[in-house]
Amino acid sequence: MKDFDFEVLVVGSGAGGSMAAYELTKAGHKVLMLEAGRDYDPKTETPMFKRNGEAPLMGAGTIDKDFGYYDATVDGGWNVPNEPYTAADGSEFLWWRARMLGGRTNHWGRYSLRFSEHDFKGKSRDGLGADWPFDYEDIAPWYDKTEALVGVCGTNTGLDDMPPSSDGILQPPPKPRITELLIAAAAKKLGIPLAPMHRAVLTRPLDNRAACFYATPCGHGCSIGAAFQTTTSLIPMAKATGNLQVITDAMVKSVDTDENGKVTGVSYVDKKTSTVHQLKAKVVILAASACESARLLLNSKSARFPQGLANSSGQVGKNLMDSTGANIGALVPALQGRPIYNEDGHTANHLFIPWWGHKAQERKELDFPRGYHFEIGGRFSEPNSGIAGYVQGYGPDLKRQVKQNYGAYIGFALRGEMVPNEHCYMDIDPEVKDKWGIPVARFHWKWSEHELNQVAHGLKTAKAIFAEMGADVGELPTPEQAILKGGEIIHEVGTTRMGASPKDSVTNQWGQSWDCPNLFVMDGGVFASNPHKNCTLTIMTLAMRNSSWLSAQLKQGAI
Ligand SMILES: Cc1cc2nc3c(=O)[nH]c(=O)nc-3n(C[C@H](O)[C@H](O)[C@H](O)COP(=O)(O)OP(=O)(O)OC[C@H]3O[C@@H](n4cnc5c(N)ncnc54)[C@H](O)[C@@H]3O)c2cc1C
Ligand code: SF4
Repeated sequence: MKDFDFEVLVVGSGAGGSMAAYELTKAGHKVLMLEAGRDYDPKTETPMFKRNGEAPLMGAGTIDKDFGYYDATVDGGWNVPNEPYTAADGSEFLWWRARMLGGRTNHWGRYSLRFSEHDFKGKSRDGLGADWPFDYEDIAPWYDKTEALVGVCGTNTGLDDMPPSSDGILQPPPKPRITELLIAAAAKKLGIPLAPMHRAVLTRPLDNRAACFYATPCGHGCSIGAAFQTTTSLIPMAKATGNLQVITDAMVKSVDTDENGKVTGVSYVDKKTSTVHQLKAKVVILAASACESARLLLNSKSARFPQGLANSSGQVGKNLMDSTGANIGALVPALQGRPIYNEDGHTANHLFIPWWGHKAQERKELDFPRGYHFEIGGRFSEPNSGIAGYVQGYGPDLKRQVKQNYGAYIGFALRGEMVPNEHCYMDIDPEVKDKWGIPVARFHWKWSEHELNQVAHGLKTAKAIFAEMGADVGELPTPEQAILKGGEIIHEVGTTRMGASPKDSVTNQWGQSWDCPNLFVMDGGVFASNPHKNCTLTIMTLAMRNSSWLSAQLKQGAI
C-alpha cells in the first residue's frame, strides 16, 4: 500500500464495513479495508445452479459446511479453524463467523425490516434496557437511501410494526404462495395479520445487478447480484471510485494509540506469512462484527487504557443480545397430494407474520415486554436429505407417502426481541489464544423470563394458527426446551452500544467512540437494543448515516 495515501482504515468487509467504505469513497476519501478472510468473487465461485442431488449426503449440513454442501460461506461457520472461542461455566453460546470477503452478507437470509419509533424507545415505555440516542425521524431518510441502494422488495403495509418507506423506494414483492395464503386465512380468524416480507432481493434490475429469476437457492450466493451481498454491490462500487483498496487475509489484532490516547492505526497479522504489520491512519472504523470489534477493543490495552480501548464506561463486551428463536411446524393435511408445480419466487418466505401485539402490551395483557415475528417456510422447495420427514416404511409405499407429503409441511421460525441482562456479555478468555496469539472471546449467557414468556406465547399462538388449518403440532415443548441457544439466530449485537452519555455507553449516536474521537464502530455492536426485526438493514443504514457524518467532520477538519 506504499503508493495509496489512505485517510480511513476500515476493519471488515461485511455489511457495516462495506457500507462505510462505499459512502466514504463516494465522498472522495481514500479508504483501505482490511479483511481477515480470503478474497472471494461470487461471479465465478458461486455454486448457484448446483442441486442437492449432486452433493454428498443430498447436501445435508456437516461440521465444516453447517448450512449445506453448496452454502456460499467458503471459510467459516459455527467453528472457524484456528480461531476458537470459549463459553463460561454454565453458559452456552454459538458464534457464527464468515472469514471471506463480504463476510456474512454472502449468505444471510436478507430479511430487511425497518425498526420503528417504538423499537428505538423501549426503555421510555417499560423501563427495560436502553433507549437509542435518536428518534425514528432522524434515521428514516437513511433507511430510504439504504433500501434504494441495497434493493429491498416489499410493500408499505400500514401496520404499526412496519414503518413505511417513501414512495418509489421499495421494489415490488413476489406474489404470495398458496401455503402463505392458507396461513393468512387461518391467522386472520385469530386477528393476526400476514404481510409481504421485506427482503434485500431485486425484483427489478438495479445498477449493474440483474433481477431475480426465481430459480436458485439464495444460500448458495447469487452471482447475478439479485440477492444483496457486498461482494457484488458495495465493494465493486466503492472500488470503481478509485478510492478503495482491500487487503484480504489480514487479521487485525489491535488498534494502536499514541501517548495522548489518540488512535494512530492498527496492527494486523498477514495470515499467509504470519508476519505482523502496522498501518497508520487518520481514522479507524471497526466493522469486524459486534463481538470481533469488542474483542479487538478489549485486546487493545495500554497504560492509558488498561481496561481496553474506548472502555472508560466499562461497557465494551456488555449488553450482548441475540434475537430469541424457536421452531415449530406441522404437516397440513389440506396441502397433501396437491399437483406439483413450479412455485415462482425468491427462495425465502414471501409473506410473514409481523408483531401484532403492541396494543395488548400497552394494556399490560401480556407477560412479556417486547415483540416477535414469525418467518414461515412451506413450499415446493428443492428436495434435500430431509425430504422424507418422519415417514416410516419401505419401497413404493414409502415413495408414495413422500410424494404425498411433499410441499405440505409448514414451519414457523419465531424471532423475538431480547432485553439485555447482566448475565449476557463477552470478555476475553484469560488462557486461550488463537493461532496468531490473539486472546479469544469468552461468552456468558442466560435467557431471562422475558424471553421465556415470549417464546411460550409464540408457541401457543403458532399452535392455534396450525389448528385453524387443521394441523396438529402435538404437545408443546416448554419454552426452556424450545428456545434456541444464545447466538444461534446470528443476530448478536450490543457489545459497544451507543448512548447519550459517555458514562454508560461506548459510542455517541454517530458510532464515534467517546474516548477516542478518531475511532468509530460501524457494526451491530452499537445497537442500544435488539428489536425482533433482523438487524442487518439497520447496521447498513447506521453505517451509511454515520460515514456521511464522518465525511463532513473530515472535510471541516474537525477530526
Ligand atoms: C445464515 C445466516 C442468516 C442470516 N439471516 C439474516 C437475515 O435474514 N436478516 C438479517 O438482518 N441478518 C441476517 N443474518 C445476520 C447478518 O449476516 C449479520 O447481521 C451481518 O452480516 C453483520 O454485519 P457485520 O458487517 O457486522 O459483520 P459480518 O458480515 O460478519 O462481516 C465482518 C467481517 O469482518 C471480518 N473480520 C472479523 N474480524 C476481523 C479482524 N480481526 N480483522 C479483519 N477482519 C475481520 C470478518 O472476516 C468478516 O468478513 C444472517 C446471518 C447468517 C450467517
Ligand atoms: S432466487 Fe433470485 S436472488 Fe436468490 S439466488 Fe436465485 S436469482 Fe439470486
